[in-house]
Amino acid sequence: MQQERVIIIGSGPAGLTAALYTGRAMLNPLVIAGMQLGGQISLTGEVENYPGFWSPDHTPTGPELVDVMHKQAEHFGARFVYDEVVEVDFGVRPFRIKTYSAEYLADSVIVTVGASPTKLGVPGEAEYVGRGVSYCGTCDGFFFRNKDVVVVGGGDSALEEGIFLTKFANKVKVIHRRDQLRAGAILQKRAFANEKISFIWDTVVEEIVGNGVVQGVRVKNVKTNEIRQVETDGVFIFIGHDPNNHFLVGQLAMDEEGYVITDEHYRTSVPGVYAAGEIQDPHFRQISTSVGQGAGAAIELEKWLAGQE
Ligand code: NAP
Repeated sequence: MQQERVIIIGSGPAGLTAALYTGRAMLNPLVIAGMQLGGQISLTGEVENYPGFWSPDHTPTGPELVDVMHKQAEHFGARFVYDEVVEVDFGVRPFRIKTYSAEYLADSVIVTVGASPTKLGVPGEAEYVGRGVSYCGTCDGFFFRNKDVVVVGGGDSALEEGIFLTKFANKVKVIHRRDQLRAGAILQKRAFANEKISFIWDTVVEEIVGNGVVQGVRVKNVKTNEIRQVETDGVFIFIGHDPNNHFLVGQLAMDEEGYVITDEHYRTSVPGVYAAGEIQDPHFRQISTSVGQGAGAAIELEKWLAGQE
C-alpha cells in the first residue's frame, strides 16, 4: 500500500491551493480529486469576484480558474488521482484512506471535500432530475432555450443563476419563501432590472409535476395557504448546500449541521488532519476565502509535520 506524507482529499479552490502550498514545501502531495476536478466552481459560469484574473475585456469562468490552479499545483509537484474516497480511518497513524479503486496510508491529511446542493425534498424532485430538475444553470441552461423555467431560492446563487438562465429561457420566475431576498444588493439590482425575470413571493414548492418531463410545480403561498400550479419546463433549485461529510462521520468532530469543526489553525479534532474550504466553513463559501483557508491549512500542516520529525 502506498504511504504518502500528505494526502489532500478534494480538488476545489481549497484543495488546489493546499496542493500548491504543500507542493512548494516539497511534501510531494497526492490529491484525491474526486471524479471531477475543481468541485463546485467547475460548474460556475463567469466569476467576477475572485481578484487577479478579471479585465474589462474578459471575466474568467470557473473552469478557467480551475485549469490555472490545477496546472500551477502540478507544476510545483502535486500529483492527482481521479477517484472518490469511500472510507477513512483517522483512529491511528498512518491514517488509512480507501477509495473506490485503491487504499492509501498518509502521515497527514487535508480534507477539502466541500458541499453539495441542498435538495428540496418534495415529491417529483428525484424523479425529474435530468428531465427538467437541475441544480446547475451553467450545466443545463442550454437545454431550456425559448422555454420557461422557475428558480427556487432567494440567495446569491438563485439570482446569479436566474440571471444566467435568461440567456436561454423566455421567462425565469424566481420562487422565494419570503418577501425579501437574501442575495446581495448588486445581484438584486440586476435581477429586478431584467425584463425576463419575475418573482413569486412568500411561496414554497410542494411538488414537481410532469409526464415523463417536468410540466409544472405545485406551489403554496405561505401567507394565504393558497395552492396553485405554475406551468414550467424547468425547475432550477438553489437553496443552499449540505457538507459532503458521509465518510467523515464518526472520524472528525462536526457541528450540528455536519460541518467539520476546525480551530483557527484549520486543525480538526484529530492531530495531523486539517480541513479547509466549505466542508468547515458554512459562512463565507467564496472562492477567495476557500483559497485562503487552503493556504492556511497547508502552512499549518507543514509546521506540524516538521515538528513530528
Ligand atoms: P444561501 O445564501 O444559503 O441562500 C439559500 C436561499 O434558499 C435562501 O434565500 C433561503 O431562504 C432559501 N431556502 C433555503 N432552504 C429552503 C427550502 N427548503 N425551501 C425554499 N427555500 C429555501 O445559499 P446560496 O445562494 O447557495 O449561497 C451560498 C453562499 O455562497 C452565500 O454565502 C453566498 O453569498 C455565496 N455565493 C456568492 C456568490 C457571489 O458572490 N457572486 C454567488 C453564489 C453564492 P431564506 O432567505 O428565507 O433563508
